[in-house]
Amino acid sequence: MGNTALNFGAGPAKLPREVLEDVQSELLSFQKSGMSIMEMSHRSKEYSKINNDAQAAIRKLLNVPDNYRVLFMQGGGLGGFAAVALNLINRTGSADYIVTGTWSNVAAKEAAKYGKVNLVYPLADKPGSIPDQSSWTLNPDASYLYYCDNETVDGVEFPFIPNNPHNVPLVADMSSSIMTKAVDVSKFGVIFGGAQKNIGPAGVVFVIIREDLLGKPMDMCPTILNFTHINKSNSVHNTPATLSVYIMEKVLQWIIKNGGVEGMQKQSLEKSNLLYQTLANSNGYYSCPIDQNVRSRINIPFRVGGEKGNEELEAKFLEEAEKLKMYQLKGHRSVGGIRASLYNAISKQDVSLLIKFMEEFQRAHS
Ligand SMILES: *Cc1c(COP(=O)(O)O)cnc(C)c1O
Repeated sequence: MGNTALNFGAGPAKLPREVLEDVQSELLSFQKSGMSIMEMSHRSKEYSKINNDAQAAIRKLLNVPDNYRVLFMQGGGLGGFAAVALNLINRTGSADYIVTGTWSNVAAKEAAKYGKVNLVYPLADKPGSIPDQSSWTLNPDASYLYYCDNETVDGVEFPFIPNNPHNVPLVADMSSSIMTKAVDVSKFGVIFGGAQKNIGPAGVVFVIIREDLLGKPMDMCPTILNFTHINKSNSVHNTPATLSVYIMEKVLQWIIKNGGVEGMQKQSLEKSNLLYQTLANSNGYYSCPIDQNVRSRINIPFRVGGEKGNEELEAKFLEEAEKLKMYQLKGHRSVGGIRASLYNAISKQDVSLLIKFMEEFQRAHS
């Protein structure tokens, strides 16, 4: 069987086995060329097709309107944080940030290097909730309104698209939620994220941008983060991460084959409901610190042994999980505890196995 590990990692994360086998089968000779895709020019007709097919798959899966462009760049999610500000913040010099956890906080700090950042509500002492929208202070002259759709570290997900009464460009980091649910792209100025959570390996960042937002980057914007240049060159301005784009394209086809975003969304709800139900049924043995209404379907943090968590029990939990080949369940170092990430490649069966283990662990250690 070989690789039978159950990988609940937050990212890089599990990829569909079918896709990895497909990659393996043509790794040495891409479509009978006698060369690996890794060895081919990014300007070859082979790579051009992959590049265009990947863009087309994203357009198809998300119904991307014609006045939007799909770009691929490097630099990871963090590169995206800088790129968003460098390409957009000089429209008016300031931007609004909704900080719901770790990644939006990092993004706001990055943007503050290039312009004025307004937090729409003060930083909470502890993430885990989203203040009511009526309490937000939104600037009508903001260059854009920014949020992180799903906070991968903290387990906070927006169950709605934020109100945007002044109709400024809405920018969303969807690194960990892209292709897990349907989105109305027309409500956004920019959607971006790293591929390595839900749609591919590390190394590529997707950007979906409304065309009218191109063309006005800051003078200091590095060429490799410049959406306008990347767009003009169809994402081959310089050498892209060709292998990553190639694998991402296969994952996107796998999603299309498996019911598209609607199929992924249905599965995602089922999987996360099963896990949250297990927490709810544990009499407080397992506890999740996040407000019910903003709990992530994708990254589920919880403590073992009561509300504050018992670190000894949690270490034991991780140790015993690994004996069953369940890996990467450790919570982010900044929050501790356990975190189960249920990305698209995680099946309902995988979640059932995790739940069975959790129930047995509770019986044995309470
Ligand atoms: C992982 C992640 C990031 C950071 O991505 P890097 O590629 O490591 O820079 C940013 N935002 C979100 C929501 C993430 O999940």
